[in-house]
Amino acid sequence: MKKQTKIIRTQSKKTHYREHSTPLFLTSSFTFESAEQGKALFDETEQGNLYSRFSNPSVQEFVDKVCMLEDSEDGVATATGMAAVFASLAALLQAGDHLLASRALFGSSHQIITQILSKWGITHTYLDATASEAEWEAAVLPNTKMVYIETPSNPGLELVDLAMIGRLCQKHELIFNVDNCFATPALQTPADFGADLIVHSATKFMDGQGRVLGGVVVGKEKYIKHLRFFCRQTGPSMSPFNAWVLSKSLETLELRMEKHSSNALRLAQALEQHPDVKQVNYPFLPSHPQHALAQQQMSAGGAVVTIELDGGFERVAAFMKALQIPSLSSNLGDTRTIVTNPFTTTHSKLKPDEKVALGITEGLIRISVGLEDVDDLIEDFENAVAVSASLPEKV
Ligand SMILES: *Cc1c(COP(=O)(O)O)cnc(C)c1O
Repeated sequence: MKKQTKIIRTQSKKTHYREHSTPLFLTSSFTFESAEQGKALFDETEQGNLYSRFSNPSVQEFVDKVCMLEDSEDGVATATGMAAVFASLAALLQAGDHLLASRALFGSSHQIITQILSKWGITHTYLDATASEAEWEAAVLPNTKMVYIETPSNPGLELVDLAMIGRLCQKHELIFNVDNCFATPALQTPADFGADLIVHSATKFMDGQGRVLGGVVVGKEKYIKHLRFFCRQTGPSMSPFNAWVLSKSLETLELRMEKHSSNALRLAQALEQHPDVKQVNYPFLPSHPQHALAQQQMSAGGAVVTIELDGGFERVAAFMKALQIPSLSSNLGDTRTIVTNPFTTTHSKLKPDEKVALGITEGLIRISVGLEDVDDLIEDFENAVAVSASLPEKV
């Protein structure tokens, strides 16, 4: 069966009520039929749920579905995407280890690597997403344990070559860890390129409707077992309620990602024609510097488009004021189109040279293209570009 059939048909076992839609197991703990069963569950001669910090049927249903979509053996769900990122690093790295990472990482992932892991004697080297195989090779140290990347990156939409990193990790026996939040398994499956761990903020496209926080790590069982121990003891567990919401959302992930991507491509193409837009960046535009790689490892370009406008923050503010449809928010991955100016919001805390390295200019606008009618979006964006371009020149 194809994944889309399996995702619709994967569900926790029916209860004696014979419900059709999946039930919600909103319970902190589970009972024992007898003292003997309690003993058997604890000494693991019998498998079963004990306590929702360890496992829960609603959470397990969500994890099973993500494993299926990501071609992965096993997984753990967490309360947020950041708990998933942190668990994937902290459960497997130890003092003296070295981490190799792409520079263009989600802000909090960067903070974990530079401010938290560093306190525990875990060092790192950053490389540009577009660094060559030789440059990645040269950065591998005797104590390098893991490679951690995001592709496409936020907000630069730079790609890392998954096949190349897969080769590198196999050659040097490194753990290959990918944040696949922007593409989702509907568009890109890193495990097929040798990834050992795939991390998600389920808050974004997996929910896709701006309702709940969540995270998940899936991958090879030999690594996930360490993450399971870590999460069981430290407690970043996903709420069964959020898992129940997210499990249902996954049924429409493929449909939504296809529509997000076709809307995003149409909007990017229209804005690229506009004389008052300085630049448009989208992986599936032929003008993207890594367009060929995008077509190799992704089935569509995803929801996020960035544009650059001339005229500084004043222009950005006028543009945002003129937009009628999109929401102004720092989040992304919603049915509703969202725009943000990374320079003054999500990436405002970066140092000026870090902003330059990541291509975060004052006039950059990140658009998370939603599921509204695309002709309405194009009309609205073209109008806002034109209105904001006709501002009197500042002297
Ligand atoms: C949002 C995001 C995260 C963090 O997820 P939360 O659910 O907000 O904790 C991690 N990585 C990427 C790429 C993200 O976009």
